[in-house]
Amino acid sequence: MDIYPIIQFPNSRLQIVGEPVAEVNDEIKAIVAKMFRTLYAATNCAALAATQLDIKWSDDTPKRITVIDFSEEKDQPLCLINPVISQQEGETNLREGCMSVAKITAAVKRAEKIHVDALDENGKKLSFDADGFMAKCIQHETDHLDGKLFLDHLTSLRRKMLVQKLLKKKKK
Ligand code: ZN
Repeated sequence: MDIYPIIQFPNSRLQIVGEPVAEVNDEIKAIVAKMFRTLYAATNCAALAATQLDIKWSDDTPKRITVIDFSEEKDQPLCLINPVISQQEGETNLREGCMSVAKITAAVKRAEKIHVDALDENGKKLSFDADGFMAKCIQHETDHLDGKLFLDHLTSLRRKMLVQKLLKKKKK
């Protein structure tokens, strides 16, 4: 199938910070379409960031793009290009996982409500409030675009324990 491989922890490519998209052109639109195909092909996948996918960029630089759809029918696609979280409010501590960190979940402190500015897949400006699962999702994905994983929010001891568990599972 025509989808992108998902880069797996501890690959250092997951630490690359994405560059803003300068123009939503045909290359970007084709990448967004393939990112959605990758999202829908994966089991239990709510969202993906371009920096966690093995994408061949014409200028070799990963860009700030994320695709989100956690609806049951998989019919509510949301593409955010160059997303910026301009306001944060409240705090939650919900369990999350990641397509790049298989089989591990952990509770992560996040803002409860956020305001987001971004472009959609056609280059149209978006500006909206998000809360609940959507807010958690967008914060997780903008972290990816900054080269960060949910593991990076944990205390160093908790992170170490989880990473050891993960690497042990991988060996099996
Ligand atoms: Zn993730």
